[in-house]
Amino acid sequence: MINLILFGPPGSGKGTQAAKIVDQYQLVHISTGDLFRYEMGNDTPLGMKAKDYMAKGELVPDSITIGMLRNKVEAHPDARGFIFDGFPRTIPQAEALDILLAELGTEVSGLIALYVDDEEIVYRIRLRGATSGRPDDSDERIIRNRISIYKNETTPVFDYYQKQDKSHTINGIGTMGDIFDRLTGIIETWEKKSGD
Ligand code: AMP
Repeated sequence: MINLILFGPPGSGKGTQAAKIVDQYQLVHISTGDLFRYEMGNDTPLGMKAKDYMAKGELVPDSITIGMLRNKVEAHPDARGFIFDGFPRTIPQAEALDILLAELGTEVSGLIALYVDDEEIVYRIRLRGATSGRPDDSDERIIRNRISIYKNETTPVFDYYQKQDKSHTINGIGTMGDIFDRLTGIIETWEKKSGD
């Protein structure tokens, strides 16, 4: 199995690249942000719990997020692998993911971080906000809060997988095709290993 953590700040292009990787490798794409937005759109109890955190650009508590992720993974017993997009965002989430995948007899293949500088992120998210309808994309203060939460709470996840020799960084600026080639260059090495 290939289990990729697509990592990077909000607006770094994770969702766009995930869609291309899914096509190429037939993996299941799990975006916790999309899952929360779906729950919110349907006014479910889970959506109600997530709503205020998301509106402020803060992280939804681990206790809620980890359970939702587990359900989604377990709903795909025949998956060839997963792309985790926007998860894990904290060390407890990373630890929970490692345990979950070990239960399934597999593991994280690697984490790839898309590096994009802050001003480019703010620019891209504001542009996306013009059409996404996402309130957290339209207010610069909230966008900057999301960036600072990424730096303070989420980057330790990079170091966590670095200790397992699994973290990589690529330049997240370029054409969609350039970035895709950088990603697949790394994923191919995992494919070779899992084929051995
Ligand atoms: P995203 O679409 O990945 O930018 O996520 C949008 C929002 O959903 C975030 O700002 C958080 O409020 C929430 N969220 C998404 N994924 C997670 C996660 N793994 N842990 C906590 N909150 C999350």
